[in-house]
Amino acid sequence: MNNHVTVLEIDGKALEHNLNYFKGKLQTATKVLAVVKAFGYGSDGVQVARFLEHKVDYFAVAYTHEGVALREAGVQTPILVLHPHLQNLQAIIDFQLEPGLYNFTIFNAFLKLTREKSLDQYPVHLKFNTGLNRLGFSAAAIPEILMHLKAPTALKIQSLFSHLAASEDAAEKAFTSNQIEQFTAIKEAVCAALAYTPMLHLLNTSGVVNYPQAQFDMVRIGIGLYGFGNDKKETAQLKNTHNLKSIISQIHPIAPGETVGYNRAFAAKAATKTATIPIGHADGLSRRLGNTKGFVRIQNQDAPIIGNVCMDMIMVDVTHIDCNEGDAVIVFNTQEMIQHIADISETIVYETLTAISPRVHKTLKT
Ligand SMILES: *Cc1c(COP(=O)(O)O)cnc(C)c1O
Repeated sequence: MNNHVTVLEIDGKALEHNLNYFKGKLQTATKVLAVVKAFGYGSDGVQVARFLEHKVDYFAVAYTHEGVALREAGVQTPILVLHPHLQNLQAIIDFQLEPGLYNFTIFNAFLKLTREKSLDQYPVHLKFNTGLNRLGFSAAAIPEILMHLKAPTALKIQSLFSHLAASEDAAEKAFTSNQIEQFTAIKEAVCAALAYTPMLHLLNTSGVVNYPQAQFDMVRIGIGLYGFGNDKKETAQLKNTHNLKSIISQIHPIAPGETVGYNRAFAAKAATKTATIPIGHADGLSRRLGNTKGFVRIQNQDAPIIGNVCMDMIMVDVTHIDCNEGDAVIVFNTQEMIQHIADISETIVYETLTAISPRVHKTLKT
């Protein structure tokens, strides 16, 4: 049970709005895979997947145990595990997950396991490297892959996929077009040798926006579902899904000359009123937001974080805010606030969202 008063409210209506926004950019036959890895980008992968279950065609997670959690929660939609390992292959089968096979170690091991278990047509996905140089077979591996698939096998190649390295970057159009061409060539080489046609998918959120001609059979949408597009204009068309809230635990009057927090980082020059909020860096609020770089909202006003962010708490300046212990605090509830935190933390919103730790109570509202 998690009854922490610091709560991340996931806005189901906003998730649905964002999903429909991207569906509007797709051809009617293009399938949608919702990426719910990393706890649904710092929210709650299980609650998000349950909510989206009948609105999308596929889910993807990074690791096997993330997929197991979805199955244990009753999610029945196909789940692609992007990055399985040898140790997890049995669990993949036990929980009817679909592995992304990215090298011969994992490919051969899965082939062997499915054969031993006399499985039939077990769906797997072949991941190809077209320039990200992270995970995936090279095109040179195709003859060997096909050789394995020629013999009777328990596998069904459900899809071929690759991942773009810089889909959000207009300056990398030539590189991205080359990735698309490579993927197309891979598809032709593999499909020519198979008696059936696997699905093809390449695009992430920014890819859908910038390279709609390469949507193939399915697209993989992550950050866009959670309210962030390629630029400000597009983000403005999306709705914020992550609302982080807390309450005031205690209010302190601070006399001039007194200090607040660890290392006495804030020293009051004048009479100051502070509020202590039960959220700290262990909840995912970066320590870089301390010393007035970040703020929260109380009674519709900005309250700057003073002193250092503690592990479990922050202290904010409420000298000019009429507020009481127990009052509501908004850590963020707009894309602008999340972007601001990411900017101050010198990172991207992906990291700001996924940093929200499991200690925070997560609840999806519709
Ligand atoms: C995380 C991930 C995605 C989602 O990317 P977004 O930019 O969040 O849409 C898609 N495909 C793969 C392979 C990923 O690892």
